[in-house]
Amino acid sequence: MEIIKAKSAGFCFGVKKAMEVVYQQLEQAGELPIYTFGPLIHNEEVVKELEAKGVKVIENQQELENLTEGIVIIRSHGVSREIYQIMEKNGLTCVDATCPFVKRIHRIVEAESARGKRIVIIGNDGHPEVEGIKGWCNLPATVLEGTEEAQNFTSDPEEKICIVSQTTFNYNKFKDLVEIFVKKGYDISVVNTICNATEERQTEAQEIAAKADAMIVIGGTHSSNTRKLYEICKNECENTHFIQTLDDLHLDLPKSVGLVGITAGASTPNNIIEEVQNYVRINF
Ligand code: SF4
Repeated sequence: MEIIKAKSAGFCFGVKKAMEVVYQQLEQAGELPIYTFGPLIHNEEVVKELEAKGVKVIENQQELENLTEGIVIIRSHGVSREIYQIMEKNGLTCVDATCPFVKRIHRIVEAESARGKRIVIIGNDGHPEVEGIKGWCNLPATVLEGTEEAQNFTSDPEEKICIVSQTTFNYNKFKDLVEIFVKKGYDISVVNTICNATEERQTEAQEIAAKADAMIVIGGTHSSNTRKLYEICKNECENTHFIQTLDDLHLDLPKSVGLVGITAGASTPNNIIEEVQNYVRINF
């Protein structure tokens, strides 16, 4: 039996950087308490490991407002302008691990909304990255993710609109939604802010799943990019399994299985992927 592990499986550039930043702070911080604003990545194992080393998670803005001492690490998703302001007001040390690709979106929406444009974010409302982006717009932004929402969108015909995307949004879906805006005749400027890491990961997963007899997708249950990977693989390969760690894997493979594919979301550590790969190699 052959095993193919996707080259793009696991930590993306932004998550790798955020992990490095946290470990650097653990070495340098001394007596100061270290916090992350929200769980560093969507992976319970990693968050537990960091907690054991003393890194605490700030769950919401209220908690941050009550904090007056320590180092606060901003995760790769980024945060709104207001969060930086609270940290400054409270005398907290901010260590910014926002992914540069997300930072770029903040800069775009800040500049475009300052020019009076209405910002439309194509993405999942409520996702921390989208909440952060919204917080850099000078006027309330519109968030939409479905065809119906795009079709129902109305605006003053004179209004200029700037469309950006959540970094992990599906490119084809983004194109379809932009097309709806074009057909409506609005004055739009479009910036494709989808991150290549996501696109590459999705394309590779699809290619592997298309030829695999069984496919394993590893990632946190709250990770939206892992869930999307699972959907893509399931579409190509009925025998697709979504697991968080090796403990969740209950593979019952028939003798005829020739190829098992493995991929993982952006917040899955390498050791978990390797563990699964070794297990499959030894047991089947
Ligand atoms: Fe950055 Fe892309 Fe990773 Fe998001 S998926 S953290 S944008 S590299």
